[in-house]
Amino acid sequence: MRRLLDEPPLVVPQPAVLATVRTVRALTKGLTDEELLDHRRRWLRSVVRGAATAEPYRSRWADGAVAAALSADTPEKAIAHLPVVPRRDLAAYPVEQRRAAPLPPRTFTLTTSGSTGERLEIEYPPGGSWWLGALVHSRPHERRLRPWTRWASLGDDERRTVGGILGWLGVLGQCRITPNSEPEVRAAEVARARPRVVIGPGKMLVAAGRVLWDTGWRPGTWPRAVYTFAELLESDTRQTIHALWGCDPIDHYGATETGSIAAQCRCRDLYHIADESVIVELLDDRDEPAAPPQPGRVTVTALWNRLMPIVRYRLDDMAVAADRPCACGYRGRALASIDGRAMDWIWDGAHGRVPPQRFWLSCHLPATWLRAVRRSRVHQLSDGTVVVEVEASLPADVVEELRRSVSAVLSDRVSVQVRCLDRLTVPPGRWRSVFSDVRARSSS
Ligand SMILES: [Zn+2]
Repeated sequence: MRRLLDEPPLVVPQPAVLATVRTVRALTKGLTDEELLDHRRRWLRSVVRGAATAEPYRSRWADGAVAAALSADTPEKAIAHLPVVPRRDLAAYPVEQRRAAPLPPRTFTLTTSGSTGERLEIEYPPGGSWWLGALVHSRPHERRLRPWTRWASLGDDERRTVGGILGWLGVLGQCRITPNSEPEVRAAEVARARPRVVIGPGKMLVAAGRVLWDTGWRPGTWPRAVYTFAELLESDTRQTIHALWGCDPIDHYGATETGSIAAQCRCRDLYHIADESVIVELLDDRDEPAAPPQPGRVTVTALWNRLMPIVRYRLDDMAVAADRPCACGYRGRALASIDGRAMDWIWDGAHGRVPPQRFWLSCHLPATWLRAVRRSRVHQLSDGTVVVEVEASLPADVVEELRRSVSAVLSDRVSVQVRCLDRLTVPPGRWRSVFSDVRARSSS
């Protein structure tokens, strides 16, 4: 049997170009059921062996459970022996204690501090970023995204795009769009670059698209494709993107902790799960599989990150498993819908609304202070006041700088308060990291 890769790579396989062509080809062609099972089983064993030496897992895995997981004949049976880890439990350990291997040079560290409002550092070994890039470039509907294709990302954290979502291969054709800038700036930069593919969180694409239309631009020769990621794509946003950009967006679902989890195909129907890269479980409150149409909590195991193992890790999202084939005919594992992180636009105090991404803490705090924040939330009260709550103790000048930075996104009529808390209370139900009580005005 053909072997795809020996184990989840820590470093980029050499010679790099040859290895990449071979991997992208193998993935594009698709693995047979038998090859896929073999690949998943071997990579999972490698990750489980490593995780058993990393503090968060070592302290809670029984010896017998690890042995049972390593000898199970399918990956699903294997991980069923291991307990589920909530995000908060993993975040309680510093990054050094979560490593299962020595740190390879040029490892990339991403901090989750955006849509979830919760901070967790994840290390991407160079081989991992390479793998995620190869995976994305092997998806048939993303053939437009050749390494030399001009593409522009309106995402706020460019490291996330380059390192995590597209990885390695995606760097060549990238048009630089200034992150954390006003939609007007982004729109002007995109118009100059005329990219073939536009990528971004849905609400940011809407904001920039509206600006472009105001300048008289209409979709024509570009873009040829629009990809969305990082937030729940409701039908309203989908339709608006189609109207503004002339393309029905293809939505991606991923997490910083795992990279790509699932993506829509050209039919924009189900989300095909990236089986080669991740094991997805949808679990109920008792950590038992949720049967469709019941939604379950998305619990993931990353097969590619042997440096920083993610095993049965519970995300904040809910999803429903598909119980029918995709419109394209695909019959593999897929998600029917994703009930992701809910976020609101914030009323700016004048006549506009600002997309939630502009309030992600990573846009306003330098990395050194970001590391001190465990969790954050942005809440706009009904009188318009914006309250930024951070679970951290920050010095007064940093708090003031944060307040000023957030205020700059809004008009003078909105006052901004920053509160440092020992503990941010987590309400039951869906976690909302950016939300507004200004209903009437903000829905205009
Ligand atoms: Zn499909």
